[in-house]
Amino acid sequence: MKKSIRQVDVNGKKVLVRVDFNVPLTEDGKVADDTRVRAALPTLRYLLEHGAAVILMSHLGRPKGVRVESMSLRPVADSLARLLDRPIIFAEDCVGPIAEDAAARLKPGQVLLLENLRFHQGETKNDPEFAAKLGKLADLYVNDAFGTAHRAHASTVGVTEHLPAVAGLLMEEEIRSLGRLLDPERPFVAILGGAKVSDKLPIIRNLVDRVDQLLIGGGMANTFLKALGYSVGKSLVEDDQIDNCKKIIKEFKDQGKELLLPIDVVVANFFMEEADHKEVRVDAVPEDWLILDIGSQTAERFAEAARSAKTVFWNGPMGVAEWQNFARGTERMAVALGEIDAYTVVGGGDSVAAVARFGLEERFDHVSTGGGASLEFVAGEELPAVVRLEEAD
Ligand code: ADP
Ligand code: MG
Repeated sequence: MKKSIRQVDVNGKKVLVRVDFNVPLTEDGKVADDTRVRAALPTLRYLLEHGAAVILMSHLGRPKGVRVESMSLRPVADSLARLLDRPIIFAEDCVGPIAEDAAARLKPGQVLLLENLRFHQGETKNDPEFAAKLGKLADLYVNDAFGTAHRAHASTVGVTEHLPAVAGLLMEEEIRSLGRLLDPERPFVAILGGAKVSDKLPIIRNLVDRVDQLLIGGGMANTFLKALGYSVGKSLVEDDQIDNCKKIIKEFKDQGKELLLPIDVVVANFFMEEADHKEVRVDAVPEDWLILDIGSQTAERFAEAARSAKTVFWNGPMGVAEWQNFARGTERMAVALGEIDAYTVVGGGDSVAAVARFGLEERFDHVSTGGGASLEFVAGEELPAVVRLEEAD
């Protein structure tokens, strides 16, 4: 058990909270979806009610170590001010004199939001000097950004060298809910999709020992299909991962476990929302077309597998769920999981956004804010940022 803010005295303390305010912005620079901001509210309210001065830090987008105005966190300050119904002080920099001044002046009950951490190269490099500068700002460190817990960055790992580190309420809830998947009621079925094959493949190998059945859809399935010798046309494929896919297929077979891949798919003639599209069997993908969703028979087969499960973990949409014509597979999966009695968990930015669009969030036992992070956790890996949090007494 990790120590959380509920087990420490925060009264009169300056508390540096790593939140995940990596929100989508509109073209005119407003917060397009405040889900992640709202997710941090329980922790922020708790700290404020218990007499802390709250300093918030986050990344937004990938500015790669330089200041990029379109990736400023300032719009989030406005959004947060409305949600918390109090003014938010904004510092134009997350370290150095500007941040230190603002932090020094901060009083209990006040909230300071620091500018985007990734405007400095030191953040993603976990640079010790940069981490030390962050550590200077406060008396206590709280991590409430589960979605980045699988990354060893200055704000998730380095900073804990300088401050006592505990979990926020969101982090605590993630660890508890995902923890149930480490000793799951069986059968345990995992469903994977999405686009990041090379990111997720090494983790899938560790899933082999843990799950009873693995279902793969989405862009990720294409590389597996190609590994089995199917021609996938112009679909998204990571050719350098084909050997790894073959190994995973073999490992499942050797353990006598089922790895289900699509048997039919929705193909399109362009990577476009309004492209022509049709459903075909996986052995009939036209050469110039791309796979953008699983087909209806696959969705039914996957749903049937889920119905026999006692525990289900799902990360990654079954197709390009942002586009209505290619969202059916993801929707069918979400509906099926919403109807079963099993312990169901969905994780990942795009997966959760899709489930929310279908209005099915409430049907899941846990909706995780982490994609890669939840997958690594479920695969039994130690997340570097979680490891750094103090153990409860
Ligand atoms: P999550 O955010 O839930 O962890 P990922 O980020 O790994 O999921 O993957 C989501 C992305 O994968 C979405 O942008 C979606 O459009 C894309 N995707 C899913 N299926 C396909 C496909 N067949 N071809 C191309 N992109 C796909
Ligand atoms: Mg994503």
